[in-house]
Amino acid sequence: MKRGRKRVLVTGGAGFLGSHLCDRLLADGAEVLCVDNFFTGDKENIRHLADHPRFEVMRHDITFPLYVEVDEIYNMACPASPVHYQYNPVQTVKTSVHGAINMLGLAKRTGARILQASTSEVYGDPTIHPQPEEYRGNVNPVGPRSCYDEGKRCAETLFFDYHRQNRVNIRVARIFNTYGPRMHPNDGRVVSNFIVQALKGEPITLYGEGTQTRSFCYVDDLIEGLMRLMAAPDEVTGPINIGNPHEITVRDLAEHVLRLTGARSPLVQKPLPADDPLQRCPDIGKARRLLGWQPTVPLEEGLRRTIGYFAGVLGVPLARPAD
Ligand code: NAD
Ligand code: UDP
Ligand code: UDP
Repeated sequence: MKRGRKRVLVTGGAGFLGSHLCDRLLADGAEVLCVDNFFTGDKENIRHLADHPRFEVMRHDITFPLYVEVDEIYNMACPASPVHYQYNPVQTVKTSVHGAINMLGLAKRTGARILQASTSEVYGDPTIHPQPEEYRGNVNPVGPRSCYDEGKRCAETLFFDYHRQNRVNIRVARIFNTYGPRMHPNDGRVVSNFIVQALKGEPITLYGEGTQTRSFCYVDDLIEGLMRLMAAPDEVTGPINIGNPHEITVRDLAEHVLRLTGARSPLVQKPLPADDPLQRCPDIGKARRLLGWQPTVPLEEGLRRTIGYFAGVLGVPLARPAD
């Protein structure tokens, strides 16, 4: 590696968010080491970077120790959709907990700054709305979502203990629902499900009445928020919410997708999964104040771009142009 260039490790770099982060870091001039075990990641997401002189990929599972020399670590590795994280819940906990210990050990030895991709799921099914960082959450410790929620909560604990005990330079981002190109077409998340269903002319599956809410952030906005957090002064450890406060019901999301794709798919109801949060919306006052950050891509625009991406992946002509 050339001296003077920032060397950045991105765990989970072949995933949805990680691959966009690799793109942005390379564009900013960094050396990027992408570490991934390809559990949910896809080589397609990083194929365009294969010949990039400052990009390197290592197949590795972060539940095992990793000895590399870096200046910054973005710890993004972890399956993120309920379908994927519930496939092997014990491995999900190990990735969050053992993975955090290993990456924090690496940060401690090298003196690297380390950012944790935490989640709005640490708030569980929230009783306070919108959720500020001070809210301690309402999480079921023994339910089907717990491997993810409690794993991420424990990772946050480890980050703050390594910070207090070993002076590791940490940043914890609580990421809210994010969507965009390179989402997995079949990971069961609502945005990808609805778009794929609409493009294939299949029924749109509303879980429950569709009255539950989420707040969807376009991927480019999210990556900008993470990079600003990493670049912020040392005292800005977080946890800090990064998400889009524009809240809508799942039913309204379905209507948007139908309108933008021109599809005529019917809406069908399916049972609501256990512990599915009723509402979710970030309070992003801290991100605005401390990072000067807020989302800029409106839902309609982000959905158009995402629909265009999925139409390409599925080889489906759009009934209505996405732009
Ligand atoms: P993703 O599944 O696309 O990416 C995760 C990546 O981590 C994949 O490439 C996967 O192969 C890799 N991985 C999983 N376990 C690993 C292990 N043990 N060792 C090495 N690599 C491993 O998911 P994403 O949506 O890009 O999410 C990235 C991060 O952001 C996750 O930590 C997730 O919890 C967090 N997050 C995402 C969202 C969202 O809406 N996408 C919301 C909140 C938090
Ligand atoms: N570790 C790692 N890479 C490093 C340094 C440490 O993967 O460059 C792992 C190491 O295997 C250890 C963990 O990080 O299990 C925690 O490290 P720490 O120094 O906190 O603990 P210790 O080594 O004292 O158990
Ligand atoms: N959902 C839905 N239909 C689907 C997939 C998801 O109605 O085909 C609902 C799901 O029950 C939840 C919301 O959409 O209330 C968001 O689900 P997702 O899995 O995308 O994210 P999370 O629940 O982790 O926020």
